[in-house]
Amino acid sequence: MAKDLLEKGAILQRDKQTYAIAPHLPGGIVSAEQLRKIADVAEKYEAATLKVTSSQRVAIVGLKEEDIDKAWDELGIKPGAAIGICVRSIKICPGTTFCKRGQQDSVGLGLKIDEKYHGMPLPSKFKMAVSGCANSCSEPAIKDIGVMGTPKGYTVMVGGNAALKPRLADVIADELNEDEVLSLVDKIISFTKSNGSKHRLGRVIDEIGIDKFKKEVGLQ
Ligand code: SF4
Repeated sequence: MAKDLLEKGAILQRDKQTYAIAPHLPGGIVSAEQLRKIADVAEKYEAATLKVTSSQRVAIVGLKEEDIDKAWDELGIKPGAAIGICVRSIKICPGTTFCKRGQQDSVGLGLKIDEKYHGMPLPSKFKMAVSGCANSCSEPAIKDIGVMGTPKGYTVMVGGNAALKPRLADVIADELNEDEVLSLVDKIISFTKSNGSKHRLGRVIDEIGIDKFKKEVGLQ
């Protein structure tokens, strides 16, 4: 039976015959040239549609299996981690780069996090988000790690997720600068690797307790 082609970053569609691919567009920030290329490839290989995804990507939907390699070659963009047990998307709001309400540089910080962690294999699916102010347009409160800008720095929250049992993230630190956030993210990722649970971080935190978790990541 046909299935997802993980090594090609291709997701089997409902028709059980065609595939979607999602080029990696860090933070959803994309040049006109890249968008044209995506549109050209979709047209050339007669994709069913283009889908702007909740992970700030543009998926090419409805490709034939024999066209997937050629499509990736022509795109010249690496695959987004849309499937697999790894760090998936790092959702980034426009922050002080573009948004008049921005209080912190969510784009600068988010792209650093993306560069370091996007696609990194972990024992569980893992999502992150960075927002430039408390309006939280990138939804940090429902991510495994959510970073939210405030006038005094960044607030870091952990263990959020959507899905069947939605969970709001727990705030574990605030008023951090960029370097402090990056160091804390590193510790949380290391904890997730060594803990080895296949469950989302929120469930792990519920099992061990938030105080023990904070100790594990050097906060107590
Ligand atoms: S979270 Fe704040 S800074 Fe980011 S897009 Fe929304 S309003 Fe702008």
